This record gives sequence, C-alpha cells and structure tokens, in this order.
Amino acid sequence: MENLEFQLGEGESTSFWNHHWTGSLTLADQFPRLFRLSNNPGGSIKSMGTWNDGVWEWNLEWRRILLDREKDQVSALLSSINNFKLVKGKPDGWKWKLLPDGCFTVKSAYKAICDGVCAPQQKNHALSVIWNAPATHNAKVTAWRMMCGRMATIDNLLKRQVPIPNSEIVCKLCYLEDEDTEHLFFSCQKSTEIWYVILSWLGVQSALPSSKTAHFLAFINLGRKKDVRFLSGAWICVVWCIWKQRNRCIFDQGSWIKEKIVAEIKSRLWGWQKTFQMGSLPSDFRSWFEAVSLVD
Ligand SMILES: [Zn+2]
Repeated sequence: MENLEFQLGEGESTSFWNHHWTGSLTLADQFPRLFRLSNNPGGSIKSMGTWNDGVWEWNLEWRRILLDREKDQVSALLSSINNFKLVKGKPDGWKWKLLPDGCFTVKSAYKAICDGVCAPQQKNHALSVIWNAPATHNAKVTAWRMMCGRMATIDNLLKRQVPIPNSEIVCKLCYLEDEDTEHLFFSCQKSTEIWYVILSWLGVQSALPSSKTAHFLAFINLGRKKDVRFLSGAWICVVWCIWKQRNRCIFDQGSWIKEKIVAEIKSRLWGWQKTFQMGSLPSDFRSWFEAVSLVD
C-alpha cells in the first residue's frame, strides 16, 4: 500500500527474521544460512539486542561458533540493519503518509480512496487475490462484496437509504460504536481480539491497519512469499466467520464467544486446506488446532 509506511518503534511486534522491516526481502531471505544458525529464529527485533546507556546494541546469538565466511555474512547483515533506529518505548506501527502527523485514520484512508490517491491497482490486486484464494465460493463472494462496499452492513444500508431505526445502528458485537464495515471487521474490539488470536496461532506478531484493503494486503504478507496463498484463505475465513456470527447475534439471538469463533475459523480452514491444498501445513487436526506456525 503506497500510502502506508511501516515505522519501527522498539521492535517488539516485528519479527527480526521474518518480517519485511528492512526492505522488500526479509532478513531470512537475504541471509538464509544465518537464519538457520540463529538461536532465536522466531524472535522479535527487540529480543535481538539490548539498550546500553540509551544506545541500542545488537546481540545476535548462534547455535554454534561461526566459520569465517559466516562471520563475514554477519558483518554484512549488521551493516544493513545499523541504519534502522529503534525507538525505546514506542510501539511499531503504520504511518499514514497522507496526514501531517502520520496517524492512520479510517477517515483519511476513505478520503484517499475517494480522491483516487490510493493506487486503484492495490484494490484490484486485492480483489484478484481474493478470487483466486483457496476458499469456498460463498466465503469469497462475502469477502469480495465487503471489499467493494456491497455488504449489508449498517453504513452501506444507510447509503442505499434503507430506513434503519437509530437504536439499530450500533455495532451488535461491542455496543460501543456505530456499525460500519471497517469498524465491524477491523477496529471493533471484539473482532480485533479474533485477529490477534489468529495471528498468534500463525506464530506472527504484527500491527494491522484498519482500512480493509490495507488490512488484507498487510495480512497476506505476514509470512513468506509461499504463505500468501494460505494467508489469503485465512483472511477470507476470518471475515466470513465474523460476518456469520454477527448475523447470528442479530437474527438468532446468538452470542459472541471468542473461543467458539476461533474454533470455527480453524475448523473451516482445516476443511479448506484439505480441499484446496494450501501447502505444507500440519497434517493432523490436533496439531493444526494448536498452531499453524508460519515462523519455523
Ligand atoms: Zn463493535
């Protein structure tokens, strides 16, 4: 997303080896041998060094004593990361380049999309990944409609002048804010909890933006290139299950039980990965249910 820029804070929620924090390649891709030798292959940036009198010092640890040529690679790695300044006490996050203070707001993202500032090809790319994702037709249609603003959420119904009593406008998951697409799926505290449980199931830690296209693109790029297909299916599955549960809450007196929704997401995805072959993933349900770690 060209209007979004990742900003490193103290590196707590960014994987040192597996996130794209230094450029288009992860450090695991750039230095595969060192990655295999690392004592902490899934660790965050923050876990790879210490603050010493206010100065950050890298402290990379290895599984064995390094050979000379490997030490040369470490020097190359250090010189490529030394330009990145960690900021003590500041969380990692996304900077939205269109606002002077860099804060990301749904409103500025929405305005940018309306103004055509956001590259339309980003949205088209997202839509084409959704169509080709390993997911059932109904789930893909749901995600596609959501991306195109055609879902029957309160904001879209109001735009189509469907009369809705004031008492019905509130989000039925949190009862704190009005329901609109981006709130419901990406910034409601109830759905955000689901995304974070799924992220930890996948073994990744990351901040996710709250605009739909940016959220999708950030999510499918959480892992390595070969994980994009699986992650696109996972994203659709989360959206699909949130939407179905939201409808049960409204129409069937259902209640929002986080653990049940997460279990439904994992079970559905298990079925999808059997049907659509998403790559090398745990082959028995019990280990699948425990963790599908993208970081190994
Ligand atoms: Zn809500």
